[in-house]
Amino acid sequence: MQRSDFCIAGAGIIGLSLALELNRRGASVTVLDQADPLSEASTAAAGMLAANDPDNPTALQPLSDLSAALYPAYLALLERLSGIPVPFQTSTTLQAIESTHPLFPQALSPTAATALLPQLNPHGRSFLHLHEHSVDPGQLAPALLAAVQSTTIDLRTHTPVHTVRSTTTATQIDTAAGTLTATSYIDCSGAWAISQDPNPRHPVTPKKGQLCYIALPEAAPLHLVVRTHEVYIAPRTTGPHAGQAIIGATVEDCGFDTNVHPDDIARLFAAAVSLVPSLAAAPILESWAGLRPATPDRLPLIGPRPNHPHQFLATGHYRNGILLAPATAQLMAQILCHETCSIDPTPYSPARN
Ligand SMILES: Cc1cc2nc3c(=O)[nH]c(=O)nc-3n(C[C@H](O)[C@H](O)[C@H](O)COP(=O)(O)OP(=O)(O)OC[C@H]3O[C@@H](n4cnc5c(N)ncnc54)[C@H](O)[C@@H]3O)c2cc1C
Repeated sequence: MQRSDFCIAGAGIIGLSLALELNRRGASVTVLDQADPLSEASTAAAGMLAANDPDNPTALQPLSDLSAALYPAYLALLERLSGIPVPFQTSTTLQAIESTHPLFPQALSPTAATALLPQLNPHGRSFLHLHEHSVDPGQLAPALLAAVQSTTIDLRTHTPVHTVRSTTTATQIDTAAGTLTATSYIDCSGAWAISQDPNPRHPVTPKKGQLCYIALPEAAPLHLVVRTHEVYIAPRTTGPHAGQAIIGATVEDCGFDTNVHPDDIARLFAAAVSLVPSLAAAPILESWAGLRPATPDRLPLIGPRPNHPHQFLATGHYRNGILLAPATAQLMAQILCHETCSIDPTPYSPARN
């Protein structure tokens, strides 16, 4: 029976980024996906690297800061392996903030915010001016996939994992195409994670998000992300979607349904137009939905799976999996290879209370 050091379930941005980190350390890695690689949340996403979103849980900050710092090197690695550059689309964000938030003293007045973005109607709100990047996941995905394919990583698509059994020395992974053996198994299956665990400490559930692409008016291009608690507008400034912007996104509990509802897209569009009225005549080009992997405390699960020796989790990245991929891959690889961790992994431990 074929045996690898590490078997990863899920070829989304988390599973493939982890595979690259482990491969760089000389380990043999198999990645299994039930469908095509990067066909779920990782390509549905808007691509904001929202490390300083005031809606993020406080305990996410160290992982967010690490990942934002790792991003340039991560994109450079993908380009070196794949030959495909992935440019940052934007480098700042205007983020609406409530007067009760601790960061409110750093906010711009409504007048200062409109000086930065004349198209903005702040409705009397204050905004943070965040130095935050965004990427186009539609550009990142082919670079990440080509990077993986340039290595010895064994990527098997249309191969769902059915069951996983650990002995004292190894893990057996039953798939639709037979059984594999690995020293360790890492569940990176996004919103589908732990579906075999009847009583997980931190259940992962799908949170649906609908969003759309609009064509930006030529007379009023956008060069920064505008975000409120209700809606965001993330412009594309380079690449195949240059001159367009993503408007997102709903947050819904409806299982694994990914149908798009025109009424919901119309509501998002109206919220965006209220914020940036010059978008009123912008045509909607395309709309879609994806499933965010959410945990009850909105923190990811990175580390050993409780009571399951040789099994690990790297999932639950909810609204920030594009941002958190480089740091998650580094931290998980450090845990798996018994190295010193770049940051304290305790807040993200699947065994946390
Ligand atoms: C609408 C929307 C907007 C978003 N915007 C942003 C954003 O702006 N910035 C940001 O940082 N994040 C954003 N996110 C969140 C981000 O997309 C996710 O957190 C991230 O993509 C999760 O990556 P993943 O690899 O864990 O999951 P996925 O990309 O969903 O990959 C999981 C993979 O596991 C596979 N799988 C499932 N079950 C099995 C099985 N049994 N066997 C084998 N394979 C299996 C699936 O086929 C899938 O390919 C957004 C998400 C959505 C939906």
